Amino acid sequence: MRALQLVSDRETKAVDLPEPDAPAAGEVQLRVRVVALNHLDVWGWRGMAFTQREMPLTIGAEASAEVVALGEGVSGLKPGDLVSIFGARTCGKCADCRAGRDNLCDHVEGVHGFHLGGFARELVNIPARQCVLVPPGCDDVGAALAPITIGTCEHMLFDNAKLLPGETILIQAGGSGIGTAAIQLAKAIGCTVITTVGSDDKIEPALALGADHVINYRKDRFEGKTRKLTKKKGVDVVFEHVGKETWAGSMLVMKRGGRLVTCGSTSGVSAETNLMMLFQRQLRLIGSFGCRMENMVTSMDKIAAGHVKPVIDTEIEFGDLATALERMESRKVFGKIIMRMS
Ligand SMILES: [Zn+2]
Repeated sequence: MRALQLVSDRETKAVDLPEPDAPAAGEVQLRVRVVALNHLDVWGWRGMAFTQREMPLTIGAEASAEVVALGEGVSGLKPGDLVSIFGARTCGKCADCRAGRDNLCDHVEGVHGFHLGGFARELVNIPARQCVLVPPGCDDVGAALAPITIGTCEHMLFDNAKLLPGETILIQAGGSGIGTAAIQLAKAIGCTVITTVGSDDKIEPALALGADHVINYRKDRFEGKTRKLTKKKGVDVVFEHVGKETWAGSMLVMKRGGRLVTCGSTSGVSAETNLMMLFQRQLRLIGSFGCRMENMVTSMDKIAAGHVKPVIDTEIEFGDLATALERMESRKVFGKIIMRMS
């Protein structure tokens, strides 16, 4: 069976792997349909992972798949079902896993495609509890974006930042995969959305997704523009994932008592924080990683209801990974890069 592996830094290879054995008790065997790429894949490809991992490593953290066989004791799924796969291998036993908060698992083995083998392969065996059945009205592309892209945004916006209808939010890098999802999710509940983009050609598509104001941060200082747009008051919530380049500005644009939620640091992991601003303005900084299982369900329900639609930048051919990762690294993308496996 075909698989795509990272063999060394910045080098990927299409390989033939033996098919997996029959699924063990509690597992399902899946035929992978669609793999979506994330910035996590860029980190992994660059060789900047902070954790040990073994090469070659099958890539792909986020995917949808069709059930082909059930292991002993699996109920609630049957061959032919379309599922969305949780992105990390968790224990299923700790208090957080039992409560569906797998992203807080104490004994997490790692993220697929990053620490552990990923989903860019034809067949894979996975614990059934890490698969979420796809509802009618959501296709295999939408299901591939539920575990990381849209699920992460759901968790950030609604579980963590507790974004409310009518609030104003600044979404950094609105043309990124999560940016395109966050714009739509915030608009769907009636928020005012200000977003930043890195080139003029991304302004129109961001407006088309529903953004009320789009700022090209390479031309204008987003801090000044945002303060002007909010009549110097500042925004209720900042959606961060850029990190070093935007951190100071993101801190500045919050209103008193504002919340900043972050899930990434694509421009660099270290940034200075003005502590006086943090306590005097009573700001809240919230870290967010991945999502709860329920966020995947909600993501796909929102796709089915038309509240959020997958924004696809490019569908690449199997094996054309380097081109895709370079495109992501150079920030040319608007939306997601996906790869169809079957
Ligand atoms: Zn656990």
